Parts: sequence; C-alpha cells; structure tokens
Amino acid sequence: MNILVANLGSTSFKFRLFRFDGAGNAALVAKGGYERVTDYGKAIDDCLTELQAAGHVRSAADLHGVGFKTVLGRGVTGCVPADDRVIQALDGFREIAPAHNPPYALGIQRFREKLPAVPRVALFETAFYQWMPEAATRYAVPPAWHDAGVRRYGFHGASHKFVAERSAELLGREDIAERARRLYQAGPTPLAAGARPLRVISCHFGGSSSVTGIRDGVAIGTSMGLSPQSGLPQNNRVGDLDSAAVPFVMKTLNLPLAEVERQMTKEAGLLGLSGAGNDMRDVKAAAARGDARAQLAVEVFIHSARHWIGAMLVELGGCDALVFTAGIGENNPDLRAAICANLGELGIALDPVRNEALRGAEGEISAAGSRAKVLVIPANEELVVARETVRCLQAGR
Ligand code: AMP
Repeated sequence: MNILVANLGSTSFKFRLFRFDGAGNAALVAKGGYERVTDYGKAIDDCLTELQAAGHVRSAADLHGVGFKTVLGRGVTGCVPADDRVIQALDGFREIAPAHNPPYALGIQRFREKLPAVPRVALFETAFYQWMPEAATRYAVPPAWHDAGVRRYGFHGASHKFVAERSAELLGREDIAERARRLYQAGPTPLAAGARPLRVISCHFGGSSSVTGIRDGVAIGTSMGLSPQSGLPQNNRVGDLDSAAVPFVMKTLNLPLAEVERQMTKEAGLLGLSGAGNDMRDVKAAAARGDARAQLAVEVFIHSARHWIGAMLVELGGCDALVFTAGIGENNPDLRAAICANLGELGIALDPVRNEALRGAEGEISAAGSRAKVLVIPANEELVVARETVRCLQAGR
C-alpha cells in the first residue's frame, strides 16, 4: 500500500511517500516539497510527476491514500475521512489556527479535485488528547465561552503519540506500546491485571514546542491550550500569556486587535524575546556572543520547559521516562542539560558524556543511577499519520 502524507503550510507543500507491506511495516520511499506555493493544484501535479519520474508510482492509481496532519477542527477530532465534514470543521476554527486550518481545508479540496479516486484521511493533532481528564481541559470561563469551543485541546499529537509508542518499546513495555498503537481504533484498552504503570513526559521542542504527560500510552495533560500559540515560548508565537495583557496593550499602547494578534503571532516568542531570530540556533549563537536579550530568551525557554515538566511530573505522580524530541530536543545537549539540572532528587539525572554525544539520533542519555530513563527519540510525525491513514482505510472497508 502506498500512502502519501501531505504537510501543508500557508505557502508550502511537503510530502512523504510510505510503502506498507502485508505485515503493516512501513518504509519511507520518497520525500520532497515546494516552498512559495501559490497553487496547491499545481503542487499536487508536480508531486505526482516527481514520484512517477522516480519510479515510485506509475500513476495516481498506485496511491492508496493521502493522509493529512490536520490541526484543529470544530466538533471533529481523531482519525477520520477527510470529507466535507472535516473541511467545515477546519473552517469553523480558522480563527484559532489561522496559519494551519485554511491551507489544510484548501489542500484537501485540491486533492479531491485532482485525485478523486484516492481516499483522503485527516489525523487531527488534537486526537491524542481525547481521553484527557475533563479537569485538564477546562478553562474557568463562562459556560457560553466553553460552549463556543474555548477549552484546552493540545497539539503535536502525532509527535507525542509516536513518543508514547516508541518509548514503551525502548523500555521493554510491549503491552503499553501496543495499547498506544491501537489507541485511535480501540480507545484506552484495559491493562493486564497487576501491570505496572508507565509514566512518560514527552518534550517536543522545535519550531513550536509542547510538553505532554502520558500514562500507559494515553495523554493526561499538555502545555498546549486552545491554540498552538500557548504553553512554552514558540519560535515567533507568544506562548502562555495572562489574558489581561491583550486588553491592557490595546488600551495603553493604542493597538487595534488585529495588530495585537499580528504581533503575538509574528513578533513574539523567541524572536520577540531575543531580537536575534526565531531559530534557537541563532538565539543560542547570539547568547554565546554575550547578547543579554538572547541569553534571557534561552533562560525563559528553559524556565518554561521546567515549569511544564514539573506540572506533568506531579500529575503523573513520578516519571519513568523523560523524552526529548523535535529540532531542539534532538539536537541541543546544552538545553537538555539545563532543563534537567538539579532534578536528581526527583529521579531524573543526565549522563553528561552520553548527552553531549547524542545529536539527531535515538538513544538514552540518563546517568546509570537515574530512576527515570532520559531518552532522545527523533520525531516521526509523518509515520504516525501514514499508519493511522492505513488503519482508517482498512477499518472503513
Ligand atoms: P522542528 O520544528 O522539529 O523542525 O525544529 C526546528 C527548530 O529546531 C529550529 O527552528 C531550531 O530552533 C531548532 N534546532 C535545530 N537544530 C538545533 C540545534 N542544533 N540546536 C538548537 N536548536 C536547534
């Protein structure tokens, strides 16, 4: 089975082609993408031409499904056929995820026009959080706000679900790995009597960042809230902010709402704090040159990461594995060391040599005596989308 995973940005189109064998094992066959896209229809044609030229598919008939990593839908989550209901759900929350929802709604429509016979599946980033306790999802807002959809949803679901599966495998807990793998089909299945719990804190630190608490393969809490501009400081998005700040700056700095929104999404986060860029590498380089703003930006990021790890540690009642994933988490030993500093009493201790040596690859970086394993697991969101697309298609047959 050939599954194309489409990753749509406001001006970009990235794709990965996975091939599944009869046993359900996936191989990444091709990946590519285009920047400055103005016409998704043309990008889809180009993608197909590229895959044909490379001999990966002969025609659209060789594609068995397209998976979309959709972000947030009004009244829809999980892994579902990407049909009119999904397009309406994306439209319904375009105000909350303006950078993500319109491109996906348009992209799904274009795929339907261009490749009508190829089934389309949407895996929402919110899917992993469907079983969070209600208390972890509620804001203390009036009921009408809640009814309008104002609650904590959680994002980076595909990435954290991959961590849930892979960390359980690495810790020798095939029972939990299987429970996590089957989550979107079967919900949280009962554990075997007497099975030990598995408590994982997953840190997706990249262009955008979030921390998720995972018990027995199921998310129980997240740093992300109503929108992906919550939690830790993001690249150029604000992260957590007291709600009083918005009316305050509107009144005292005389800013219209649209300008406040623009600044919170384009000029805030690591960029706003540091002035040195929105890429952690640039921020760290400026900090190393002695730039005080950049140094503070790094410290704010570390502070926020520890804040959310602490929240999950208490919620889970301890931690069996702390996992770093995504661009920053996989590649930056300094930040991992700073985030884990002085946590020995809480059972988390790094091995400095292992930590320093591990970049961009999977492995363990905890000290021999650490109660919790500290792991690096490279992000593999597209694989999760591809797998769930296959399962959704097979379930629909
Ligand atoms: P991602 O969102 O997973 O693609 O991660 C992209 C981000 O990872 C970039 O914007 C960088 O901030 C960060 N990143 C990548 N490599 C490094 C590195 N060696 N050190 C610090 N940050 C990095």
